[in-house]
Amino acid sequence: MSSTQDLINKLSAQHNLPDAELLRLLTSAKPETNLLLAAAADKVRRQYYGNKVYIRGLIEFTNYCKNNCFYCGIRAGNSCACRYRLTKEDILACCREGYALGFRTFVLQGGEDPYFTDARICEIIAAIRTLYPDCAITLSIGEKKRASYQAYFDAGANRYLLRHETANAEHYAKLHPASMSLANRKRCLYDLKAIGYQVGSGFMVGSPYQTPENLLADLRFLQALHPDMIGIGPYITHAQTPFAHEASGTAEQTLRLLAMLRLMFPYALLPSTTALATITPQGRKLGLKAGGNVVMPNLSPAGVRKLYSLYENKACTGTEAAQNLALLQAEVQQAGYEIAVDRGDVIKKTKL
Ligand code: SAH
Repeated sequence: MSSTQDLINKLSAQHNLPDAELLRLLTSAKPETNLLLAAAADKVRRQYYGNKVYIRGLIEFTNYCKNNCFYCGIRAGNSCACRYRLTKEDILACCREGYALGFRTFVLQGGEDPYFTDARICEIIAAIRTLYPDCAITLSIGEKKRASYQAYFDAGANRYLLRHETANAEHYAKLHPASMSLANRKRCLYDLKAIGYQVGSGFMVGSPYQTPENLLADLRFLQALHPDMIGIGPYITHAQTPFAHEASGTAEQTLRLLAMLRLMFPYALLPSTTALATITPQGRKLGLKAGGNVVMPNLSPAGVRKLYSLYENKACTGTEAAQNLALLQAEVQQAGYEIAVDRGDVIKKTKL
């Protein structure tokens, strides 16, 4: 049987492995596996993106949500959540502050809030597009009809983040109510791609009932989708959800997957996520060293950051705060990288 290093070399060279070998990497109990994977991932990331780290200003503009995902703290059924929504003026104020700080991508993320009709969303996008023609506008507002996605695109949105969450339909059904389906999630992703968005997908690591075979299915689905961005983070338990008593995912497994994603999708934009920074103190830095090349500091008004509570103890101070860019710069440099002040579009995708 080939050694772990042999498998990693093969994955680096071919950006792919047979199922059994990917599963061996996913389940390896050897302590050195993550270190070897991260070293290989860092090499590939430097080949494709040099030492650049791209920053996105994250604006969490509403925590109202009509959905009831079992894992999520802002699910409709959580009557303890203190709800808020930002006005167009609030959002534009976030962009103004972010632009002055050096952000050239704004990510508008929220629950699926019916108050934000397509007309309201388009009005906000158009205003940002007019004021900041040199910036990328990313949306992360869930499942919509194709015509809605088209309208947002026509209004000036460029990118869309929609994690598929899990590519196994049975697992999907364990994480979501019957009103939601993996088929519709996939339909959304393919619609977004067809319209011309730069598309991001991804999944939670260590979500309840997840098996190594599910993770393998996630990797295979991503290979088929060929997204520009892939966001992963550990599942983190939230007490006011049906999964209150389920264990959170681990930093180790998240870092392992991150490095494997870099080797399989060398061109991709891979964030070192807030969830990773939340479960382990050095999470953000470790994520960058394992192949991550994007960070998304929080640009939401300070007063609402804790209310956008998908999971518990969300990190939103220190380097998670957009205002502390100098601190983030220092951390990124210490890890051996540089923050890039440009839109940070995906590089031309190689056909793998
Ligand atoms: N409504 C939008 C945005 C969802 S929040 C949408 O549906 O895409 C962004 C991501 O946070 C989700 O896709 C999910 O993967 C993640 N998330 C939600 N609850 C979480 C939890 N408890 N732990 C970790 N990540 C979580």
